Amino acid sequence: MTPSGGGDGPGRVLREVFGYDRFREPQAEVIQNVVAGRDTLVLMPTGGGKSLCYQIPALVRNGAAVVVSPLLSLMKNQVDALHQNGVRAGRFDSGSSFAENKKTGSRFARGELDIVYVSPERALTDGFERLLGDANIALFAIDEAHCVSHWGHDFRPEYAQLGELFEKFPGVPRIALTATADALIRDEIVEKLRLREPEIFVSSFNRPNIRYAVHEKEGDSSRRLADFIKQNHPGQCGIVYCRTRADTESVAARLEGLGLSAVAYHAGLESELRAERQKRFQDEDDLIVAATVAFGMGIDKPNVRFVAHLSLPKSMEEYYQETGRAGRDGEAADAVLFYGLADLGKNLYMLEQSEAAADIKQRRRDRLNTLLGFAETVTCRRRAILEYFGETPQADNCGNCDNCLNPPKVIDGTVAVQKLLSCVHRTGERFGMGHIADVLTGKSTPKVKKFGHQNLPTFNIGDEFSAPEWRACARQAMVAGLLAPDNKGYGSLVITSRGRRFLRDRESFQLRRPSAVARRRTESSAARAPQIELGEADAALFEALRALRRDIATREGVPAYIIFHDRTLTALSIAKPSTADAMGLIPGVGANKLKKYGEEFLGAIRRHAEGAAPTADATPDATPDA
Ligand code: ADP
Ligand code: ZN
Repeated sequence: MTPSGGGDGPGRVLREVFGYDRFREPQAEVIQNVVAGRDTLVLMPTGGGKSLCYQIPALVRNGAAVVVSPLLSLMKNQVDALHQNGVRAGRFDSGSSFAENKKTGSRFARGELDIVYVSPERALTDGFERLLGDANIALFAIDEAHCVSHWGHDFRPEYAQLGELFEKFPGVPRIALTATADALIRDEIVEKLRLREPEIFVSSFNRPNIRYAVHEKEGDSSRRLADFIKQNHPGQCGIVYCRTRADTESVAARLEGLGLSAVAYHAGLESELRAERQKRFQDEDDLIVAATVAFGMGIDKPNVRFVAHLSLPKSMEEYYQETGRAGRDGEAADAVLFYGLADLGKNLYMLEQSEAAADIKQRRRDRLNTLLGFAETVTCRRRAILEYFGETPQADNCGNCDNCLNPPKVIDGTVAVQKLLSCVHRTGERFGMGHIADVLTGKSTPKVKKFGHQNLPTFNIGDEFSAPEWRACARQAMVAGLLAPDNKGYGSLVITSRGRRFLRDRESFQLRRPSAVARRRTESSAARAPQIELGEADAALFEALRALRRDIATREGVPAYIIFHDRTLTALSIAKPSTADAMGLIPGVGANKLKKYGEEFLGAIRRHAEGAAPTADATPDATPDA
């Protein structure tokens, strides 16, 4: 029953065990290389399909694959998912009891496992080395291989010692995998893991299914976010990154209040609560987590449908990594950054106030500036991301980011910025943008009167823009380094030396047309066709199958997506197979899952067909397998 070493070719294992009919680029070549016993390094973005690169060779080669993985939760999920596919997998880690680990050990030694996962700490123990000596090892796989590097954020000292262990098993091929593209880290992986003339596979870091967009943060951002979610992702799951712990709590509460299912997650929560919420996120398919950046590592949920940022990431790397948690399953997903003047001011202020050494500060400044350039760009965002990571995209226009879908207008903003800077100057560089906008647009507020600002020459000279448009203008002037937050943290604006030069030399300024663009963008995302286009009857079937999947997942004690992905449910809802053979052709339905769950799903489809038949208003769908 269980596919084991020997006869099966990679293509057949892909079909029969995992239920997929095609390899993705460059899985086939990677697998071929590992199966042939050569060392391999794979750099592939999140969601690219790294796991199959070692799981299939594990089933094709003789013996068991040993997979070093840094995170307990990921290991557990991988093993659960493999069990669902009928693969004989086990894990050694501190999350399992002594007895469990012992049992796994003897199964491993007896050749009863195809894949064993092990934490790096445990891999380095004498006990494990002895076990390796007794077992027949198919390959060593090192997941999240960038953990060997001092340069990255995830450095794990044990990783650096794995090379020595591997040297003791010279006949066993090694495959290292990471989603980090950095060349420096790549070299360090090869060196530390002692990969021997490895074949290196570098995939494009493009995530074509992720739609990138930047929205101006104006007014009640939680409400705007809630509207965005309701319009684009009703009943789906997502992550909302917030700046502070308090923000995560208030955003989650607001979203709940607005009728969504949301919880907060941050490092300040008790560890039990954290674990519980992380588990809910894994298991439920419509939960939104409002989190600080502490929420991330260890999430391999494939159907995160959106990642929203309510605060600015500190760098492009951070932004790419965080947004990359959306859409691992390859289905349409959104990455939306809500960003406005106040955030920008706070980020710049904190950066300048930090006690860090001058060179570190400069590096942080550069990183933030790159991200700001991305946020303000008027051309393709995907292109900006890929070029940052050293790729040259073929097309100028990706067709799946806000700027490509709705090119923003660029206007000559020279006069507007001159007016803005003079108004900041005339009011003594002591006020925030709220007041400045009031002066520019000629509002006689009590504060304006108190300071006599209605008598300034800059009073009421700016009626070409609304207050939000003036804020957008100020933000762009700040990104360009003409304005800065004051150094006391009061939120007032001051003119930089560059800003003075701008005024003196009468430089010109291109403005991304504010606010009107943002409004159009929201409309366009509302008008966007739903990612899974199901007719009414099919959608009802999809919901029925989703409910069945939830029941089975609860019964089996695994997250719903480990039973079937949404994509599989969608395909089932459209094709409506009536036989096991027909169901076996649906992507994601391998032999084991067909045997375990086929009857239940076929039954649900049958019941749906019987129940749906009498309704006359919808045209009946063709049943392709009939
Ligand atoms: P990574 O580890 O690179 O982030 P995974 O190995 O978790 O990615 O794979 C991401 C998703 O893509 C998984 O849900 C996996 O089942 C799916 N997948 C991988 N390879 C294929 C393939 N050849 N055909 C269809 N789906 C695939
Ligand atoms: Zn684009």
